[in-house]
Amino acid sequence: MILILLGPPGSGKGTQAKRLVAEQGLPQLSTGDMLRTAISKGTELGFKAKSFMDKGALVPDDVVVGLISERIRQVDCSKGFILDGFPRTIPQADALDEMLKANGRQVDRVVLFDIQDAELVSRLSQRRTCLKCGAMYHLTALPPKAAEVCDQCGSSLIQRDDDREEVIHNRLKVYHRETAPLIGYYRSQNKLQVIDASLPSDVVTEKLAKALVS
Ligand code: AMP
Repeated sequence: MILILLGPPGSGKGTQAKRLVAEQGLPQLSTGDMLRTAISKGTELGFKAKSFMDKGALVPDDVVVGLISERIRQVDCSKGFILDGFPRTIPQADALDEMLKANGRQVDRVVLFDIQDAELVSRLSQRRTCLKCGAMYHLTALPPKAAEVCDQCGSSLIQRDDDREEVIHNRLKVYHRETAPLIGYYRSQNKLQVIDASLPSDVVTEKLAKALVS
């Protein structure tokens, strides 16, 4: 199965993708995680991407399309994969269709995480992330057991530069302008299912599981 989790930043795509990995045995392909890894390794690509990410802008399409096209050729993607944070523009979606078509494959399902902007601002500004294992916390709804320490791997938690309030507003603006048109794109292909992402994350997990078998 080739599944796209579509939705604004902070809507819970990453959290749900990680749960699906365990359940479905498919890899999670997160362009945001790939770019952050490139930044932490100090690669040229990471250096280039950082200036866009810090502003809440999108990294150019050719960069992320290149990352994904390399990644999906790896053997663990042969049975399918879960895309989290890609595509984010119509040209990225077109490029994805082309690269899949070249191998006789196609996107099977797209799940839209539907949620209001006001809820996202609160979620993102209180989000803390483990730089090492990617686990995510929320200062009030899902706090770590020890302050600023990851429950899962013991590393320090950080607030991502782009989770600062002034950047969040720009990310949401970019989402509505560049990414929201993908809703119509996939709806017209009859691939879109919508779930209410404002519900508690365990309920969203249940709804997602149901959406995937319906
Ligand atoms: P995320 O972790 O998915 O919220 O992504 C963090 C940042 O990485 C975004 O705000 C963009 O700057 C960049 N990014 C991630 N995925 C993409 C993509 N598909 N296209 C362009 N930029 C991306």
